[in-house]
Amino acid sequence: MIQAMLPPDDLADSIAPAPAPACEARGRPPKAPLPDIDPARCTGCGRCIAVCPVHVLGFHTERWTKFAVLVEAEPCTGCSRCEVRCPFNAITMRPAAQVKPHGT
Ligand code: SF4
Ligand code: SF4
Repeated sequence: MIQAMLPPDDLADSIAPAPAPACEARGRPPKAPLPDIDPARCTGCGRCIAVCPVHVLGFHTERWTKFAVLVEAEPCTGCSRCEVRCPFNAITMRPAAQVKPHGT
């Protein structure tokens, strides 16, 4: 007899997607900073884009040069993961009033 191979309950729990951390579930905290990306330092490696849990970073291309930009400010939680991840110190977290999302 062939039986369906289902993972045991404890394994099923371990492979289920992790719930979003509390701050991401709540959205943007008041006074949270925003990432200020310096295009002169950015190499376009994409690490910040990959690490952002709320997917608010993207690429912009200008004169055949690709660099990261903040596409949308409101979902950003100010977690600083992008700043920490950037190997070229191209990202600095600043007060939200000092950072304008790309295209605004
Ligand atoms: S991690 Fe840094 S260098 Fe890489 S795309 Fe982001 S800002 Fe640019
Ligand atoms: S601070 Fe956090 S949420 Fe905001 S853009 Fe960077 S990684 Fe994404």
